[in-house]
Order: sequence, then C-alpha cells, then structure tokens
Amino acid sequence: MSRKYVIAANWKMNMTPSETAGFLDAFLKNFPDPTAVEIVIAPPFVSLAKASELMAGQSAVGLSAQNMSHEASGAFTGETSAAMLKEVGCQYVILGHSERRSLYGEDDVVINKKVHATLAAGLIPILCIGESLEERDGGQLEFVLSQQLEGSLLGIDASQMPGIIIAYEPVWAIGTGRTATPEQAQETQCYVRSVLERLFGADVAAAVRIQYGGSVKPGNAGELIAQPDIDGFLVGGASLDPASFADIVKAGI
Ligand code: PEP
Repeated sequence: MSRKYVIAANWKMNMTPSETAGFLDAFLKNFPDPTAVEIVIAPPFVSLAKASELMAGQSAVGLSAQNMSHEASGAFTGETSAAMLKEVGCQYVILGHSERRSLYGEDDVVINKKVHATLAAGLIPILCIGESLEERDGGQLEFVLSQQLEGSLLGIDASQMPGIIIAYEPVWAIGTGRTATPEQAQETQCYVRSVLERLFGADVAAAVRIQYGGSVKPGNAGELIAQPDIDGFLVGGASLDPASFADIVKAGI
C-alpha cells in the first residue's frame, strides 16, 4: 500500500507572528513540488492566525497546532479548544510530544482524551510516542511503545485510524543532534506498525502513516526516508530555517 509522505515542522516555542510571516514568505516562494508530500507547519498558538492568513489560497501546506485541550470550553485557564483551532484554520494537532509528557506531566490517559476530541472535531492528530535512552538501554523499548500506543489509542475504532498520524520520536534523539540510525529507526517503526496490526488489523497497519522524529536534517533525511516504514518526519530545530526545511521536504519527493 502506498502511503503519502507527511513532513511536519514543529516550531515549538519559536517564531512570533512576524517571524512566521518571514518564514512563510521565503518558504512559499521556493516551494518544493508538493504532489508527493503533505507538508504541515505547526507554529505556536499566537502565530497560527498569521500563518493561516498567509497560507490562504494554497492547499499544499497544512496548518497544525502543537497541543490542544480535550475540553470544549469553560474555566480552563491557558488552554485552547478544538473549535478555536478550527476557526483559525488548523487541520492537524500534535499530541503527546515528549516535551508535553516530560515537562507538563501529560500521560496516556489525557493524551487519549485529546485524541478523541481531535477526531470528533475533524482534526488530524499527530500522535507522538517514543522511549527514553534509559528505557531503550534497559530493554524496555517495545514495552514502552506498545503501552503508549495502547493507552493513547484506547477506544479508537479501526475505521478512525487512517485519520491519525503516528510520530515515532526517540526522546534521546530530540534536539540532541543524535539521530537514530536508519536501521534503528526502521526496526522500531516496523515494530510500531506491528503493534498497530495487533490492535487494529493488517489493513489499518498498512495504511497508517508513521513519521520519524529526532534531529532530522537535510543531511540525514534522504537515508531515513528511504526506509520502508518511515512515512515522513516531524522536524524540530531544522524546520526553523525555510531553506533547511525545504531541503528536508525535497528528500521526500
Ligand atoms: C521534535 O521536536 O519533534 C523534534 C524531533 O525536534 P528536533 O528535530 O529538533 O530533534
């Protein structure tokens, strides 16, 4: 089954609205042919409206938030709902990023609620999973990944799975400059797919896109995307520069 590559820029807490405008001006001008690749940009909340305005009229680049509340509205200071994200033009939401898990205490129970809320609103979740170095070295890799998948996808029907993107991001490779080797990434992504097969069946496992994330750069994107179970990237640091992100996108074309 052919799966369209999806390459997403996670800007984290970088890029003010004016910096977002500068990035998009440069990126959309030298735009790589998007037919083979779905491109997604995830600015911080305050820059979503500006990005949406500048991306209007083109369908090649999608807009994502970096987080979302599972609540619909009410007394939840500092939170953002699905309806708010939809109104500013988001189509995707990154959920369960390792920084949300480790710095803000998000666990699979809350991430699962967010996955349900995202799907109910017609948004596409980019669900992040990944092990720490300690867990990998301690032989816990498969256990950790299967627990994260089972917990965060609890109650999700097989029919909903093609609308979910999984991002496998080894925590030890995020922002560290230490990328998983293509072989390590392939082996783990293949394992992730096998868990999806156990949970949802072979057809779903073959259809779901699994991104790799962790220090992806123009120099390593080609050999990573050549792996059969890598269906795109979630890119942090290297997505902040329009030329470098464009080069990573070109690796997928
Ligand atoms: C990320 O934040 O999802 C990420 C993979 O970051 P980086 O590319 O900087 O490692």
